Amino acid sequence: MTTSVNPLKPPARVKIPRQVPREEDARARASTFAEVSRGFDAERALVEATRCLECRDPACTRGCPVGVDIRGFIQKLLAKDYAGAAARIREANALPAICGRVCPQESQCEATCTVGRRFAPIAVGLLERFVADWEIEHGAPPPPPAAARVGRVAVVGSGPAGLTCAADLARLGYGVTVFEALHAAGGVLRYGIPEFRLPKKILDLEVDRIRSLGVEIRTDFLVGRTATLDELLGEWGFQAVFLATGAGTPTFLGIPGEGLCGVYSASELLTRVNLMGAWSFPERDTPVKLGREVAVIGGGNTALDAVRTARRLGAERAYLVYRRSRAEMPARREEVRHAEDEGIEILFLTNPVRILDDDAGWVRGLECQQMDLGEPDESGRRRPRPRPGSEFLLPVQTVIEAIGQKPNPIIQSTTPGLAVGRAGVVTVDDAQRTNRPAVFAGGDLARGGATVILAMRDGRRAAAAIHEHLAGEKGAAPGAREGRP
Ligand code: FAD
Ligand code: SF4
Repeated sequence: MTTSVNPLKPPARVKIPRQVPREEDARARASTFAEVSRGFDAERALVEATRCLECRDPACTRGCPVGVDIRGFIQKLLAKDYAGAAARIREANALPAICGRVCPQESQCEATCTVGRRFAPIAVGLLERFVADWEIEHGAPPPPPAAARVGRVAVVGSGPAGLTCAADLARLGYGVTVFEALHAAGGVLRYGIPEFRLPKKILDLEVDRIRSLGVEIRTDFLVGRTATLDELLGEWGFQAVFLATGAGTPTFLGIPGEGLCGVYSASELLTRVNLMGAWSFPERDTPVKLGREVAVIGGGNTALDAVRTARRLGAERAYLVYRRSRAEMPARREEVRHAEDEGIEILFLTNPVRILDDDAGWVRGLECQQMDLGEPDESGRRRPRPRPGSEFLLPVQTVIEAIGQKPNPIIQSTTPGLAVGRAGVVTVDDAQRTNRPAVFAGGDLARGGATVILAMRDGRRAAAAIHEHLAGEKGAAPGAREGRP
């Protein structure tokens, strides 16, 4: 532990209120794709860092799925050693500018922070973002890769799981090629999470940093078609493969009217906007036709991103239709607050029943019914039950479904013998090993839809397991801590 440079005694530290980030004005931002949260400036970051108690047993790190040394980087920040703070974070996290923006810190590091027992917890995510943004603006590129390579590994998919695994393996001296089906790297960070939450410039810089470790990224390469997994392990000469192809296939409710014009999946809408620039049609040739009134069905981050995107594309009334109450919403609290500030109307305890048509094949409304909450279900959340006679019509011309995603089956169906479980999720053990020798898997492909940081944790575990498999060495990748979370 470095010596404390905190000018205040602990009792004085906790009296300082948690600092709030700068934000774009809600009304102005609801019609632009500019980033909403502007993060901390140096002054606020230093005040916030002063609140940290520098705990001897930092509970915050136990709450971080990749085990970032949070106390250590905050101490470097306090000493104004921003480069040192960034290096400390990067020991465990290859995408800090992204995690600082999109991680659900309130249920991870900030939920376990000691200060949070009696006061507002340290704003770990915002401090991480400040340090990572400082590094992007001022930092030196990472050291060049070692010339001699100890083996060749293929990573399939360039989302957070694939990029993290690739970075760890490159630092261990492996030659790594990432195969990506789309024309740009990043996975959901590229085509799912919108510009107003995660600017693509930030993603580009993080991806460039991983490339500069010596990682090759081959885009427009669909594993299962361009080459199969067995071909990568055979004639392509890779010694191991990490599968990280995510869960990009949308699921639908199965209610009447889903075939009408004006019904989208959230992933189609977001991909058209984020990856194909649909907001700038006709300059870009991918249009999105939305009605004046739009309903998005769901309560997770994807639903929030879709409804806020619809608002920015010009929807005069944008509704979020969610069958449970606010307390059960899986979306990040900050995103819910931002959406409401932007004029999104959230209809809680409301369940869609059917989509109505205007006799010309287009949507004219969404029939819904009100719900009450019963006993908890297997997910631990209270189960919604329809309230008899409570049906009503929501007048909308567009319906967007955001109720969940599952893995694309292409690799599973072209890889004989690969064990697959419910909904096409690839089966793995604690070290991300599949049942096929030299084949590992992780992220949403092995979880069926989770978070960026859990995908990154899988990427780290897989890199350590691949290293153990190829080099016969026990132990974790550089930066991984003992008692890996
Ligand atoms: P992905 O990010 O899905 O990446 C998989 C990649 O593999 C894709 O680029 C895909 O094109 C490629 N691929 C697929 N098949 C093939 C193939 N056969 N060959 C080659 N390449 C292939 N999580 C959070 O923590 N915070 C958030 O705020 C948040 N918001 C979200 C918003 C949206 C709209 C969505 C959809 C998800 C959000 N999530 C969020 C969840 C998070 O983004 C995912 O859990 C995470 O991206 C999963 O990472 P991954 O690497 O497993 O897969
Ligand atoms: Fe600082 Fe909270 Fe971590 Fe303690 S638990 S070291 S107060 S961030």
